[in-house]
Amino acid sequence: MSQKIKIDSLCVKEYPDQRTTKPHQLPLYATSSFVFEDAEEGIDIFTGKKQGHSYSRYGNPTIDTVAQKLADLEAFGTGLNAYGFLTSSGMSAISILMISLLKQGDTVLTQSDLYGGTTELLLKVLSNVGIKVIFTDLNNTDAVEQHCLNDRSIKLIYFETPANPTMKCIDIHSISKIAKKYGAFTCVDNTFCTPLIQQPLSLGIDFVIHSTTKYLNGHGNSIAGIIIGHEEKIKHKIWTTLKLMGATCNAWDAWLINNGLKTLSLRMAKHAENAMNIAIWLQKHPKIKRVNYNGLEDHPYHEIAKKQMKSFGGMLSFEIDLPLNEVLNVLNKLQFCTMAPTLGDVDTLILHPVTSSHLNVDKSQREANGITDQLVRMSVGIENQDDIIADLSQALQ
Ligand SMILES: *Cc1c(COP(=O)(O)O)cnc(C)c1O
Repeated sequence: MSQKIKIDSLCVKEYPDQRTTKPHQLPLYATSSFVFEDAEEGIDIFTGKKQGHSYSRYGNPTIDTVAQKLADLEAFGTGLNAYGFLTSSGMSAISILMISLLKQGDTVLTQSDLYGGTTELLLKVLSNVGIKVIFTDLNNTDAVEQHCLNDRSIKLIYFETPANPTMKCIDIHSISKIAKKYGAFTCVDNTFCTPLIQQPLSLGIDFVIHSTTKYLNGHGNSIAGIIIGHEEKIKHKIWTTLKLMGATCNAWDAWLINNGLKTLSLRMAKHAENAMNIAIWLQKHPKIKRVNYNGLEDHPYHEIAKKQMKSFGGMLSFEIDLPLNEVLNVLNKLQFCTMAPTLGDVDTLILHPVTSSHLNVDKSQREANGITDQLVRMSVGIENQDDIIADLSQALQ
């Protein structure tokens, strides 16, 4: 600067970056905007003639780096050129994707045991803008095909596998084949698996969404989501919707995901190993009526899971053979496991769906989906499994 400035102005001015060498770790770009070298650069960036950041709601180096890494993980080994958009939460990833793909009069075909927030989004929000929903059993491929044949307004088949909290699986490849035949988009919520366990894009699915809040971050200190796709035609539409609805992720949450991702492979292996051993232990316990874990050979969805999952993950649920008040007593006796309404953290988390996540779901509807008063959901952590088992054992005594 050639101009001599006063001391109070010096306080205000941003100082030049002192960086001389490349940082080893991804820096946290806590900046809402980016500086243009001159007026022409500003014009070129805004018109898209030149690649560059301008305003963090449109993109930010921290956020974009993590989004690309997640897209590369989902597309790993498929040869697809995937892109990713980080969003402010898993719910915003779902809503932005649906708003991008659908318009008034279009229908979403889905399952009845979706993540509760997704069901509510469809019934309470998207219904207001004329987007319809049909709930069906997505493992009944004849029914799925009949729906697509009879209702040409079905533009998206949206599903989760394994589903919460009963671990019911849906055959991804079968759904993607039917959807392609009828020109409908497909999206899988892959939150429970992460790309290390299941890669829907490799099975013909168009979009994958995640609540990165769960396993991808893994440490319970960030809320965010991601939309991953590979259709270039739709990429710009999703980006436009995201930037205009303002549901972009912030740099801090993205940075925390980046930290978590480094140990994702180690964590997922340990989650799955612990979950398998705990499922086997629970199955032998006299007070346990039923264990839902895809790794167990007698689980009704074991075969589908084996086909499309590399391991069986860290989520399970089980029914305690006691009346509701005694089930709650067992949970209150837990000392090592934590009761919290999230999943995918490094420590073991327990949830009683009927008195928490499914409190507002109609009793007959939840029971039809296997969510009984006796059901307990467990997000098995990466601790020493002996400590988890000892805690369960003393609480069940
Ligand atoms: C938590 C969760 C969501 C919602 O994600 P948020 O980050 O809480 O918005 C969506 N789908 C599944 C399967 C989840 O577990």
